[in-house]
Amino acid sequence: MTTTSTSTSAPAAAVLDGTGLAREIRARVAAGAAESAGRGVPVRLAVVVATDDEGAGWYVRSLSGAAGRAGIVCDVVALAPDADAGTIRRTLAGLSADDTVHGIVLQTPLPDGVRVSELAAEIVPEKDVDGANPLSVGRLAAGLPAHPPATAAAVLALLDHHGIALAGRSAVVVGRSLVVGKPTAQLLLQRDATVSICHRHTKDLAEHTRHADVLVVAVGLIGLVRAEHVAEGAIVVDVGTNTAPDGSLAGDVDAADVATRAGGITPVPGGVGPVTTALILDHTVRSARAHG
Ligand code: NAP
Repeated sequence: MTTTSTSTSAPAAAVLDGTGLAREIRARVAAGAAESAGRGVPVRLAVVVATDDEGAGWYVRSLSGAAGRAGIVCDVVALAPDADAGTIRRTLAGLSADDTVHGIVLQTPLPDGVRVSELAAEIVPEKDVDGANPLSVGRLAAGLPAHPPATAAAVLALLDHHGIALAGRSAVVVGRSLVVGKPTAQLLLQRDATVSICHRHTKDLAEHTRHADVLVVAVGLIGLVRAEHVAEGAIVVDVGTNTAPDGSLAGDVDAADVATRAGGITPVPGGVGPVTTALILDHTVRSARAHG
């Protein structure tokens, strides 16, 4: 763990970096993809995009680039930003039926009125490398084998990588989306943490978050979590990836303020994000190995 200090008097919070772990995962992915290609099964990932959202575009380019560098073919299937549900559904069904495709990601945001949880049901669970199909969500909740959403898996992988114990500890997740908050809470629960979930209607957020040994924040509001939300020595995982007014990437946590109390904090950028991308590729290679 690297350590940093925001002022000479403040205690130092460790920086729980994700780039080293992402590099390790990508090396494993590249070896797996090469092995699969050697068996005559080139690993293939399809990303279905129906948005002109800038952040989504940036993310898809970075996923596609990382796939290419790892020896995975990445097809970006670009639909119109106003594509209807039927078009997206048929596209996902076609990719699900295509034996040469091993992983499918349905990029968000989707056109207005189109719900990811309904459309993701068209992704067969073995190719559902970002855990979006309600079947994958249910299997995860039941403790059965399933691809977990990559971001939730990335949170756990980062905590493990930095040796953060979870059993018997108090974990608080802020945010309850299907892609991040809820599955992260499920995975923490599976690891025997005592888990609370906070959301928009939670009264006195700080009252809850101050009890956390491990605090995971996945909201989408720059600087929502400050030092007063955090217990002395707590581990803080910042999932937020927001565009700041100056165009830079900003998390949900006011890192400079929180670092005066926390024991460790994941940076943005360079924390959960790169591990998420690497794990989507990892899930795709696993899918090719099991079903290719
Ligand atoms: P989302 O679907 O919009 O969900 C946001 C959640 O935050 C909701 O559950 C909402 O509560 C809750 N919330 C909103 N305002 C709140 C407040 N003032 N206090 C407490 N809770 C509040 O967002 P998401 O898809 O989960 O993404 C969350 C953040 O993570 C975003 O910044 C996103 O860009 C980022 N993200 C990062 C990665 C990565 O790999 N690093 C991947 C995915 C997402 P309600 O349910 O009550 O509305």
